[in-house]
Order: sequence, then C-alpha cells, then structure tokens
Amino acid sequence: MHKTGKKGLSLARRLYTSRILGLALGLLVVSAALYPLDPAPWVWGFMLSNGLLWPHVSYQWARRSTVPYHAEHRNLVIDAFLGGFWVAAMQFNPLPTAVTLAMMAMNNVAIGGLRFLLVGAVAQVAGITVGIFMFPFASVPMTSPAQLYACLPLLCLYPLALGWICFRQAHTLGRQKRELLALSRTDSLTGLLNHGAWKDRLNEAFQHCRRQSPDGAGHGVIALIDIDHFKAINDTYGHGAGDVVLRQLGKLLGQNLRATDIVGRYGGDEFGVILPDLTLLSAVQAMEGLRERFTAQDYGRDPALKVSLSIGLAAFTADYADATAWLDDADQVLYEAKTSGRNRVVCQRHRPVLEASAV
Ligand code: GH3
Ligand code: MG
Repeated sequence: MHKTGKKGLSLARRLYTSRILGLALGLLVVSAALYPLDPAPWVWGFMLSNGLLWPHVSYQWARRSTVPYHAEHRNLVIDAFLGGFWVAAMQFNPLPTAVTLAMMAMNNVAIGGLRFLLVGAVAQVAGITVGIFMFPFASVPMTSPAQLYACLPLLCLYPLALGWICFRQAHTLGRQKRELLALSRTDSLTGLLNHGAWKDRLNEAFQHCRRQSPDGAGHGVIALIDIDHFKAINDTYGHGAGDVVLRQLGKLLGQNLRATDIVGRYGGDEFGVILPDLTLLSAVQAMEGLRERFTAQDYGRDPALKVSLSIGLAAFTADYADATAWLDDADQVLYEAKTSGRNRVVCQRHRPVLEASAV
C-alpha cells in the first residue's frame, strides 16, 4: 500500500517540476516589469526568493507533511496569493499582469478544476489587496518592448510544459484503466478469464455460431470441466494443495488447447471452455486427451494425490434460444458424468456422437 506513499505525493512531484519552470520564467516577467519602477532592495530579495527558492521549499514542505495532498493545496493558494501580490507590485502593467494571471488560472484549473480556479482567484484578490497596500498606485505603466519580450518565454514554454504533464497524466491513467479492466476480468488464482469475462465470451461465441450456421450445423462446442471430489482433496491435503491442483488444471488447459479456444474458471473447481469451429467428435477427443493427461499428473509434495475430471460437452444447435440454454445443456451432461461414475467425458444426447470413457 505504501508503494505510492502518502496521498498527494505524486501531485507534489508533478507540481515541483512545473513550479520550478513557471516561477523561473515568472521571475523574468516580474523583474522586467519592476526594473523601471526602481523598487526597494527587499522587493528584489523577496522576488528572487519567490522565484528561485519557493519551488524547493514548497516541495519539501509538502513531501514532509502528513498529507502532501492538503499541503500542496495550501502551496497553490500561496502561489496564487503571491501572484496577485506581484501583479500589484508591477502596478498592473498590462501584459505582465495578463500573462501572470492567465498562467496561474491555467495552472489552477488544470490541477483542481473550477473549484480551484475560484479558490485561486480569491487568493489572488487577497494578494492584490496586500500589494496595493504596500505599493501605492503611482502611474499607469505601459508595456515596453523589453517587457513584452520578457513575457514570451513564460507565454510559450509554460503552456507547453503543462500540456505535456497533462498528456503524460492522461496516458498513465489510460494504461492503468486498461490494467484494471484486465484485472477485473482475470481469475487471480489461475490467470484465466473469470466467471463474468468467460460468460461474455460465451455470449459472443453464441452470436458467432448463430451467424455462421443458422441451419444449426455445429460450429462450436462448449465444455464444462469439474474436478472430482475436490472437497475431499482440500480436506485431506489442505487448501494449499487444492490451489495447486486448480492452478495445474488451468496451466494444462492453456497448454493443451488451441489458441482460439477460450478457457475460463467458471467458479470453484469448475472450468469452462469454448471450442469454436470444432465438431463434437473432435471436441470429445480433445477433452479425452486432456482428462487423461490431468489424471496422470504428479504432485511432487503429495505423491499419493490423484485427481480426475468430469467433463460435459454441448455442441451448438440453432435450437438454443440463447447462450444460457447452451450452457445449461453442458451443465446437464456434466451432471450426468458425475452421477454415472465421474472421471469421464459425456456429451448431450441429441447429438450424433456420444462418447463416455469411464476409467
Ligand atoms: P464433485 O465430484 O461432485 O464435484 O465433488 P466436489 O467435492 O468437487 O464438490 P464441489 O464441486 O461442490 O466442491 C467444490 C469445492 O471447491 C468446495 C470449495 O471449498 C472448493 N473451492 C472453491 N474454490 C476454491 C479455491 O479457490 N481453492 C480451493 N483450494 N478450494 C476451493
Ligand atoms: Mg467438483
């Protein structure tokens, strides 16, 4: 849980970079605007501290606080207040003022939306008020060409940097969204599709079969596979051993089926396989092979452990109203496999091939 650290630490890191750049370029703007006004030495000192030291101080402050997220919000309010303060100190010189306020508004809206835009605006007004009090209004300065050029780096580079940061953020979020989606569709024990994801694929397979063979000719088979006496395995060898068996079956299914076959853990000790474009006879053969291989598995730590499978198969027919009816048929024949002695492959009776292999 502590991998990403305290809440807002990554926000503080992002803002550190953008604050270093924004305030360094802002320093250029403010100094160009203040220079003709011949301010007191403390004003220069304060301006240099704000432009060069504050980004580092604010970052360390946020990093060391209990909740960096809240600390960063406080830092942004201070940024906005100081922005307003410098606007008043510049005697509202039109271009530097507009550039300073616009860059801060862009920053605040990118970080905290409309709410933060408003909070920032209030802090700016407070900064302006204090600034007016400290720097009484003297004249109406016009923006000189030098001041205009001093504004250009901030005007050009800062939106570029902020746009890049936002893009990176959106890119990371998109990747995390895809990862979460994959995780939400994966069974954590076996790495196969989980119940919901497999059922979604079954619905798709059903629609595909319907389009391929409206006359009902077989274009797909589903298999439901259940481990025999799994409860007893858990009870005798422990849940850890039971998990090993489940993982082993998942692995075997992955290794022994075609890339186009869709395997999922249906739940508990039951697995589902969709075998597209396969006849029932071929599906029976494939499942027989799998059943035999699984029965022959060795479990190193528990040599006495032998596990068998019961498998029910149902081929697609146009009679099925939906995928659930198809699945119900497979479930029904799986039940038959269980009640007729387990460790066998059984397929539904209305198909021409019926093969059961009791060992
Ligand atoms: P049958 O031959 O009739 O299938 O008998 P069974 O004992 O296998 O009966 P059932 O299918 O009802 O038992 C499933 C058991 O699987 C019950 C449950 O405790 C166990 N189980 C479900 N999920 C897991 C899991 O993730 N790990 C382990 N070890 N056991 C699980
Ligand atoms: Mg079982």
